Amino acid sequence: MLVTEYLEKAKGETLVSFEVLPPLKGGSMKSIFAALDPLMEFKPPFIDVTYHRDELLYKRKNDGLYERIAIKKRPGTEAICASIMHHYQVDAVPHLICGGFTKDQTEYALITLSYLGINNVLALRGDARQVEDKFVPEPGGNKFASDLVAQIVAMNAGEYLDKNIDSAEKSNFCIGVAGYPEKHFESPNLDQDLMYLKEKVDAGADYIVTQMFFDNKVYFDFVEKCRAIGINVPIIPGLKPLTKRYQLNSIPRKFFLNMPEDLVKEVQAAKTSKAIKEAGVAWCVAQSQELKAAGVPCLHYYTMGDSDTIVSIIRDVV
Ligand code: FAD
Repeated sequence: MLVTEYLEKAKGETLVSFEVLPPLKGGSMKSIFAALDPLMEFKPPFIDVTYHRDELLYKRKNDGLYERIAIKKRPGTEAICASIMHHYQVDAVPHLICGGFTKDQTEYALITLSYLGINNVLALRGDARQVEDKFVPEPGGNKFASDLVAQIVAMNAGEYLDKNIDSAEKSNFCIGVAGYPEKHFESPNLDQDLMYLKEKVDAGADYIVTQMFFDNKVYFDFVEKCRAIGINVPIIPGLKPLTKRYQLNSIPRKFFLNMPEDLVKEVQAAKTSKAIKEAGVAWCVAQSQELKAAGVPCLHYYTMGDSDTIVSIIRDVV
């Protein structure tokens, strides 16, 4: 089923869903199943699997010169999705990015997904490679997530890039996109970012999943601003618990968001790593409970390989 069908069928009940990362190259599906097994008690209607593009590395050769190599550390998103669907009979949502793909390669990826029976995707631009200071689209590739959405929407209408195809099969993708309650880091301000978020929805996105946030007010304000400019699709909040002291700095540095002062004080006052984790988990429980009480369509947890913590949170929420 499509993500939007699950949301409609829930008739106002708050669903629970998860995001997992592919294992590092050399790993196996066992680690994904080990991470997902404990989460299945919450009957997630869908599970997201992130996509990780290749990174460029410079490797020193015997002659002293450097060779540039591209390495993909977490391959296999599409196959992991198919495997999850087969193993659990739960829908999987592969993340699909613009970076590293020409439009032709995107079309082939979509065809593969369609053949696998995967009809949900989260359409993203992706970040710059670590060696590049800004995002560079592939020549002939999509520049923004809205372009990727438009390409998927065209396939849903049976329009392929190859105009020689007669009576092409229409795909049936439900398309999610990313939203940033505290704005995307490249955007000059939230209003500009919202304008481009609306562009993604106008291009055909069916729902939005937000970047994590630790202050629910930020989410509620974001939803209000979205509605005010005519963004009317479901907006699923993304949540991640803080469990370690260093995350007070690493999460804002990596995800460009603010930590509420009360949470910062609680974590700073905690004397042991156990107490820090308890404070972070209690915060996430309170956030989840408030969001659920407000009637959000779904609570989407970034599991980051720590299923036990997520289980303990959701047991206090559902
Ligand atoms: P876009 O919507 O294209 O926006 C990128 C920037 O460009 C924004 O600042 C926006 O305001 C601006 N912009 C948009 N359109 C235009 C335009 N027409 N003209 C000028 N400016 C414009 N990354 C991965 O690599 N793999 C993943 O699996 C992944 N999963 C994610 C899941 C979620 C829920 C979220 C929130 C993020 C995820 N990301 C992932 C990170 C994401 O790829 C980055 O945040 C990326 O920098 C932006 O992606 P986007 O799809 O939001 O881009």
